[in-house]
Amino acid sequence: MPQRLNFAILGAGIGGLSAALALEARGIDVTVFENANSPREAGAGISIPPNAARLLRRTRLCEAIDNITTRSQGLTLRTSHGEPVSRPGAPTPQSYQIHRVELLDMLSSATKGKVRFGHRCVSVEQTGPGARLTFANGAVCDADAVIGADGIHSIVQRAIGLKAHPTSEGVVAYRGLVQSKKLSWSAELRGLNMWMGAGRSFICFPVSQGRLINIVAFVPSPRDMEESWFAAGDISALVAEFDGWDAPVCDLIAALDETFRWGIYDRPALPYWSRGCVTLLGDAAHPMVPHFGQGAGQAIEDGFALAVLLEHATHDEMPARLKAYQDLRLERTSRVQAASRLAGQFYRSVGGDATEQAQRMRSWMSEAEWIFPYDVEAAALRQLQFGIDAPDERSPPGSAASMPAR
Ligand SMILES: Cc1cc2nc3c(=O)[nH]c(=O)nc-3n(C[C@H](O)[C@H](O)[C@H](O)COP(=O)(O)OP(=O)(O)OC[C@H]3O[C@@H](n4cnc5c(N)ncnc54)[C@H](O)[C@@H]3O)c2cc1C
Repeated sequence: MPQRLNFAILGAGIGGLSAALALEARGIDVTVFENANSPREAGAGISIPPNAARLLRRTRLCEAIDNITTRSQGLTLRTSHGEPVSRPGAPTPQSYQIHRVELLDMLSSATKGKVRFGHRCVSVEQTGPGARLTFANGAVCDADAVIGADGIHSIVQRAIGLKAHPTSEGVVAYRGLVQSKKLSWSAELRGLNMWMGAGRSFICFPVSQGRLINIVAFVPSPRDMEESWFAAGDISALVAEFDGWDAPVCDLIAALDETFRWGIYDRPALPYWSRGCVTLLGDAAHPMVPHFGQGAGQAIEDGFALAVLLEHATHDEMPARLKAYQDLRLERTSRVQAASRLAGQFYRSVGGDATEQAQRMRSWMSEAEWIFPYDVEAAALRQLQFGIDAPDERSPPGSAASMPAR
């Protein structure tokens, strides 16, 4: 009888919980340890891109997601004065717009009994046969493998000898939710809508089946601000930033009851993710600027890739399987990190009239189309079929610097 392995995931964010769901679906035992005392997520919307939405649809949550999601109907771009730059093409049925709290609640219920809240990890050590997690509350967990899904300030990242150095983009993202009933035109709002102009951009999309409208506004910021879902923003500052913009932008800002601000920091791709029986996932592995809306999408892809690559693995195979996961994921996520960085530079540099903007947008979008059709489960299965190399213990495997641009 094959040995039953015990996996520990650190972090019950979108990445950690979707990994737990994917691993459990392949019969893998997993415990998730989370610092917070209960499921907790800031109230904001999130767009789950098609490359990740298709993975969630394959799970037992498929129906539940349909109940909480607003299907995206494509992207509409406008200049700051409302001139159309592009209109949505064919609807994109596999892209979701979801309230983050509803998504986290759904994932938490699906993984109920697997998550240990109130466990702040203070150390991760590789032991001979596996790894040991120690928690601030005195608890200790010995696991065959540890998956660090503990976000941008990852303790697991440091435990395997890495540190991502943040550089401020000089940009702050204001976020907020508006009750649709406050706006007479809200029923006409479909899909993702974006306005661009003078170093600023404004995005809105409906969530909670149209009851709420999520907004994200990117503006230049001379001072560095914290990366936080809970830092309060100043609505009057936001009003001033978008003074004179297209009427729906001004209406949405005027209808906000509160706003939160997140300072945008860029971090380079990490040179490796896996050491022995410890690996990284989500923002801990590939923190990226949010201009392409792919951070959570890539975290979800990571979890589903891991599940394919760890199914039927034995304890002795663990380092090689985790290296295979890194080899599969590091190149793609590094390219997505770069595309997200370029997206931000593109949005901030837009000028000219609507026709010129439309041309630039089309050419830029065509450069990034490779992200959406990707099927990570199929790619992981191919990786298994082609065989998995034993890890080289002498040097950290994989190097983003040596990777091809695409
Ligand atoms: C303004 C903004 C808009 C965005 N919009 C989108 C979008 O539309 N689409 C998209 O795909 N992505 C988007 N993103 C990115 C997305 O939010 C992140 O990529 C995603 O939430 C990362 O998930 P994660 O699970 O890896 O990390 P996190 O969500 O950060 O979760 C990490 C978890 O680990 C826990 N933790 C940390 N340290 C410890 C410890 N020592 N012990 C125990 N637990 C610990 C934390 O409490 C947390 O619950 C956006 C980001 C921003 C800032």
